[in-house]
Amino acid sequence: MNKIGELIRRKVDTSWIVERPRRLRQSAAMRDLVRENRVNPEGFIQPLFVIPGTKTRQPIASMPGIDRLSIDETVRECRELWGLGVRAVLLFGIPDEKDAHATSNYDPNGLIQTTTREIKNALPELLVAADLCNCEYTDHGHCGIVGENGDVDNDRTLEILVLTALTYAKAGVDIIAPSDMMDGRIGAMRRALDADGYHRQTIMSYASKYASAFYGPFREAADSTPAFGDRRTYQMDPANAREAVREALLDIDEGADIVMVKPALAYMDIIRQVRDAVDRPVATYNVSGEYAMVKAAAERGWIDEAKIVDEMLVGFARAGADIVITYFAKDYLRRHGA
Ligand SMILES: [Zn+2]
Repeated sequence: MNKIGELIRRKVDTSWIVERPRRLRQSAAMRDLVRENRVNPEGFIQPLFVIPGTKTRQPIASMPGIDRLSIDETVRECRELWGLGVRAVLLFGIPDEKDAHATSNYDPNGLIQTTTREIKNALPELLVAADLCNCEYTDHGHCGIVGENGDVDNDRTLEILVLTALTYAKAGVDIIAPSDMMDGRIGAMRRALDADGYHRQTIMSYASKYASAFYGPFREAADSTPAFGDRRTYQMDPANAREAVREALLDIDEGADIVMVKPALAYMDIIRQVRDAVDRPVATYNVSGEYAMVKAAAERGWIDEAKIVDEMLVGFARAGADIVITYFAKDYLRRHGA
């Protein structure tokens, strides 16, 4: 022992230390043994952006590794994902035709409806979730019908949402995922689905969805930036937490089977609060901005992408998310297997 070592030994009394948490961290096997939370790849949902046409993959600049896919390419991507162990996908339609009333959204032969039928033909066991909103289908980019005062008209928007939900159900969508944040949409949708015999269709509600800058790259991907105004009259204020729990409880009362917190990374406390307040599965959406930040920093060599992704994903599990919608699902399964 050198001189400094002797000095410290004499001055620091360690005889009182009984609790030694490091005992449980001493080897990889020990750490694996006592791990409290694990990433559950069976709870992953991979989002996919569907465009018209065939044999087309359009890269999204701000989301390296994620492409917009024509219907045939979407089916091909689903085969690959299924092979890797991904059990569920979340479809976003990006149509060529947009108008003030999102007409192409409830076309029985629209993008989501056709894609769902083709995926189900090819891979009947893959769960198909479909995001249900109007912002990709309206020429103004808002999530609903814009009223005379320039704000989105809640109750008129519900009519379109319900109409669209029925076409999604008829096409075979397993999980309908309304992301519009209109009041009463879950109740309206559940009643209409049940009335038409679609009892099997699950509703995953974007219950606690914040007005967030983390959606930036998605809006490029989905071509859904509002032409005027913003979404703060329907999406939640990032400063609020109690309201998030209230939104989740309301949606469950109205018939939601799964409730979601979106975004994920800056809202871990919300995931936990919702998890503790409800008895349904809780999903979180690891959104485009969270993906883009990791990719950009990794590209510059500033962070270790694989380690960051693993840490984020286990963080969501620790916060209480049962289901994680993530652009990293494919990468994670490629690295770790199902
Ligand atoms: Zn929307």
